Amino acid sequence: MNLIGSYNYALVVLSVLIAMLASYAALVLAGRVTAAGGWPRVVWLLGGAGAMGTGIWSMHYIGMLAFILPVPVAYHWPTVLASLLAAIIASVIALYVVSRPQMGALRALAGSVLMGAGIASMHYIGMEAMRLPAMCHYNSFLVALSVVFAVLISLAALWITFHFRNEQAGIGWGKVSGAVVMGAAIPVMHYTGMAAASFTPTGIPPDLSNAVSISTLGTAGVVGVTLVVLALAMLTSWVDRRFVAQALEQKEQKLQQSEAYLSEAQRLSHTGSFGWKISAGEITWSEETFRIFQYACTTKPTVELVLQRVHPEDAAFVKQTIERASHDGKDFDIEHRLLMPDGSVKYVHVVTHAVRDESGRLESVGAVSDVTERKRVEEVLRESERNLRMLVEAIPGMVGIQSAEGQQEYTNQRVLDYTGKTMADMANLGWTEVFHPDDIEHVLDTWSQSIASGQPHDAEFRLRRWDGSYRWFQSRSEPLRDSNGRIIRWYTLIYDVHDRKNAEEALRKTQVELAHVTRVMTMGELVASIAHEVNQPLGAIVTNGHACVRLLSREAPDLEKMREIIERMIGDGMRASEVIKRIRDLLHKAPSEKAPLNINETIQEVIALVGSDVLKSQVKLRAELAADLPPVVGDRIQLQQVILNLILNARDAMSAIQAPSHDMLIKSRKSRAGEIVVAVRDSGAGLDPNDADRIFEPFFTTKSKGMGLGLSISRTIIEAHGGKLCAVPNEHRGATVQFTLPAGRSES
Ligand code: ADP
Repeated sequence: MNLIGSYNYALVVLSVLIAMLASYAALVLAGRVTAAGGWPRVVWLLGGAGAMGTGIWSMHYIGMLAFILPVPVAYHWPTVLASLLAAIIASVIALYVVSRPQMGALRALAGSVLMGAGIASMHYIGMEAMRLPAMCHYNSFLVALSVVFAVLISLAALWITFHFRNEQAGIGWGKVSGAVVMGAAIPVMHYTGMAAASFTPTGIPPDLSNAVSISTLGTAGVVGVTLVVLALAMLTSWVDRRFVAQALEQKEQKLQQSEAYLSEAQRLSHTGSFGWKISAGEITWSEETFRIFQYACTTKPTVELVLQRVHPEDAAFVKQTIERASHDGKDFDIEHRLLMPDGSVKYVHVVTHAVRDESGRLESVGAVSDVTERKRVEEVLRESERNLRMLVEAIPGMVGIQSAEGQQEYTNQRVLDYTGKTMADMANLGWTEVFHPDDIEHVLDTWSQSIASGQPHDAEFRLRRWDGSYRWFQSRSEPLRDSNGRIIRWYTLIYDVHDRKNAEEALRKTQVELAHVTRVMTMGELVASIAHEVNQPLGAIVTNGHACVRLLSREAPDLEKMREIIERMIGDGMRASEVIKRIRDLLHKAPSEKAPLNINETIQEVIALVGSDVLKSQVKLRAELAADLPPVVGDRIQLQQVILNLILNARDAMSAIQAPSHDMLIKSRKSRAGEIVVAVRDSGAGLDPNDADRIFEPFFTTKSKGMGLGLSISRTIIEAHGGKLCAVPNEHRGATVQFTLPAGRSES
């Protein structure tokens, strides 16, 4: 005899409603789990499964409670908890399956089997929790049917949930209808399961340890808690969805903004972008790309469209590049021309990069830049470069052009002709190769200073000629700046200063030699002091000579005494001649470098030396120098000394007499005999004809502080050169002192 059970239909309806509510919650939660990622996803999955599991389980228990048996029924609560756990596990599986991006048939099937098994387990574990004085039997066909229902319902639930999970707006009528279907289906399984069970009374009181009996209040509690849990879950998910939606909206806004920026940037940089799904043949263009190709934005971009615009001369090559890229997905970077409908030509630079999309299909992304302007500027630049070079070649000097960093870039042909190097040599080796080794350091120093400061600079250096000889050059390097003042180039003008350098060198030598003249003059004074020493023995000789004469005039001359005196005289004489010899030696030891020289130059050098000095005493100094004089062979220093002496004497003679002005004339000429004559004519005190020759004697002087040696040394010098020095009074006023020199063999 089986116990006859009946149903409390109000509770049955309640259980169905709870099932629907739980289904709705499941749909909402599935959406959240799908939207979340990382840890939040796990939390949503577990929390959602908890709520959903509670809902399913609660439906089940309400259903159990709706079943009324004529015996008291208690429930073993640990088993009840186990059934709750089974419901939650089934929910975890369900949520996991529906929240995947894709749901294949296999996955759906496996999911529904697992979920169905979970729900069936929950049901039958729940049945096991019943404690009543009866035996429970199962109709195996109905049990199997209930499990099949569980799996089928799960499958339907998964399918519905998967498809409605992302429905956003409002309550979501899709969700609601899905929930109604699911909510109606779940109790089917339950009540089939219930139908499978039949109870035979045993009369044995049940084991009531850990068992509770469910009162009406308890039922209300289960329902209440379930509702609260489900409500909470849905509220949370609703709040979360709002947040996410807001964040999404912001992201969308930002995206739109950055898209606007990007499009603006593309417009400004004349660079468009494109994407090309090669296998699908789908091409997308950015606005700027449409603009560059001059197609309306509504046109559907194709490879043909691109090829239509490509310049006929570049077409073959572009076509080939595109074809290759579509085969092997290689990146490319090309420049080609476009021929626009209005006949204008554009230059574009195209760069692509191959990427694979999520499903591994080849996709090519790229950029196309309109570089027409750049090309034009490049052409202008090339043109101006050409002009610059032409200009540089036209400059009748050497020119070098260097980069802003001082790197040699270009030199004109003259540099190459001079150095015998090629343009490539100059660019590779730079100037250091052709500088004199002694100048390199200095030149490089100046350069680096100039580069650092941006200031122009000058330098002097020797450059090696192709034949290995060196010449002196001077350079001026100036920076070339662009409109912003930034240095773009340096140009260096190089000019030959070899002759000037040589002249400077000569001048320097002359200066050294003039110092030498001073030394020689000092030597003259030395000689004078030596002469002073001669005076004394000569005086003694004269005195002793007189003494001898006196002794001889005696009747009985004291011969012994005389011999003594004469011996002393000889001693003095020898001393004097010794001193004289020393003077001679000194004079002859004076450095003597005989070389062919231009006497006019020598005269001018002396004039330059004394000029200002002479003018101070209001003397007009004139020079009349005959052209085409043959060179003389002589020591320039010594001849300078002679000329200097004559000029200074003339000046002294002129300053000795009062006159409103004085003239001094220095003349050079060729005598009839072919000798060179240099005369210094003054308007000074003049000469007594008797003195005309005496002035050349040593120590003859009319001046209080004169030594009287200048002319005697001068005569020695002139005679040593094979010439003559003489003086004559002028007819009118003053005197002329002149010397002759034999003409050397003409060089030419
Ligand atoms: P110093 O310069 O000491 O006088 P010099 O041998 O050069 O010695 O000259 C000797 C002298 O010859 C001078 O003192 C001067 O009397 C005379 N003399 C030289 N040159 C002239 C001249 N141009 N006119 C007149 N007298 C001269």
